[in-house]
Amino acid sequence: MAGVPVDPKPAFDPVARAFSVEGVGAKLRLRGWIHRSRSSGGILFLVLRDRTGSVQVTARKDRVGETAFRAAAAAQIEGAVALEGMVAEDPRAPGGREVRAESIEVLHAGEPFPIFQDQTEEFLLDKRHLAIRSQEHVMIFRVKAAVLASFRRFLETEEVLEMTPPILTGNPAEGGAEAFQVDYFGRPGYLSQTAQLYLEALLFPHERVYAITPSFRAEKSRTPRHLTEYTHLEVELAWTDLDGLMVFLERMLTAMLHDVATRIPDELKRLGRPPAELLAIAPPFGRLPYAAAIERLRAEGFKVAWGSDIGTAEERALTLSERSPIFLTRFPRELKAFYMLRSPADPKTVEAADLLAPEGYGEIGGASARETDPELLVERLRQIGAPVQEYEWYLDLRRHGSVPHAGFGLGIERVVRWMLRREHIRDTTPFPRTPARHTP
Ligand code: ATP
Ligand code: MG
Repeated sequence: MAGVPVDPKPAFDPVARAFSVEGVGAKLRLRGWIHRSRSSGGILFLVLRDRTGSVQVTARKDRVGETAFRAAAAAQIEGAVALEGMVAEDPRAPGGREVRAESIEVLHAGEPFPIFQDQTEEFLLDKRHLAIRSQEHVMIFRVKAAVLASFRRFLETEEVLEMTPPILTGNPAEGGAEAFQVDYFGRPGYLSQTAQLYLEALLFPHERVYAITPSFRAEKSRTPRHLTEYTHLEVELAWTDLDGLMVFLERMLTAMLHDVATRIPDELKRLGRPPAELLAIAPPFGRLPYAAAIERLRAEGFKVAWGSDIGTAEERALTLSERSPIFLTRFPRELKAFYMLRSPADPKTVEAADLLAPEGYGEIGGASARETDPELLVERLRQIGAPVQEYEWYLDLRRHGSVPHAGFGLGIERVVRWMLRREHIRDTTPFPRTPARHTP
């Protein structure tokens, strides 16, 4: 087969080349956006940004010509330019190098960029479509992309197949309270809160499946860890119990943390997370049974009893001094979803675990073994007052080759929030959806 023709000399160079070993003295053709601009007399100092980095450019009027110089000097922050120039050493420039322009062309001068220092959070959220060009946002979304790519690589190695479950559904998976309702041709439709029930159906033909989909939660609570739309990585594995699932999950998380720490250490460092801290995390993670957690919390002065929910403050107390994630296991049945397996050793509890991030960040994942007995499922649905007939298709899965299986869901934004020590989860997604905002 004839090869695809490859241009031996691409028309433009990546900005990062200015800092490569053979950089000094090289002649580069660059294009990108003006990050900063300052002119003094006949010299223009630009910081030019592309996807690979940024570099200082100096353009002298006597070198690039009067007209080009004037146009470049008049271009706004975030205006687009193309230029040709020589890489030179300059200890005053960021990174110790600059590009001395021989020619410069303004591709789009732009209007005055509305974002500058010391603006309010609300204003920046209104201008989010532009704010995401900031260096900090660029780095955060690189980390997020690396996290997703790394999870996908791990799952492929483990022969877990990626599935595409629906987002529009006819009945809410976890009860109606926190589901967004839409008009589906005159009938109620709902935005998916979890892909789990569909992944369970797909597990019988494929045995190991996963999906990365948006999940929607109509929760009004304004907390720094809740979005109304978030990225949900869900895995469902056949022939696995809760203990096997936790081993899989801690391996998967560790593999991702090490992979990201190795691939993009600079971004992590600059965002406040030394990569060594992630490399130090290794299985097995701690396992703290719910009952023991309640004891600990009571000893620390929390007013909780067996059966109490473990909320944000409690999670924080349990993980503040941890350096690795921990599993909180075997919760009271009433606190958890109907599909979770009754613990064989203690029917008051279910085979469920929450994965808590260390340093007080709290829940990043939820896991459980699934109930395999259709009668027990129906009993639980009745107890919680759910319309059993709407779960008929799900109950079918327990009528045809029902086997032990287990699964978990991770909130990708929660994982990134912890990894990058962000105060608020909205920093980890480009266009955050919260009760107060669904634009831009
Ligand atoms: P929480 O108690 O914090 O509201 P949850 O028990 O409702 O979480 P699950 O239904 O178990 O969460 O969802 C699985 C995972 O999805 C959670 O562990 C979390 O990482 C993530 N997640 C859940 N709700 C949200 C949300 N509103 N915003 C961002 N991530 C979420
Ligand atoms: Mg919730």
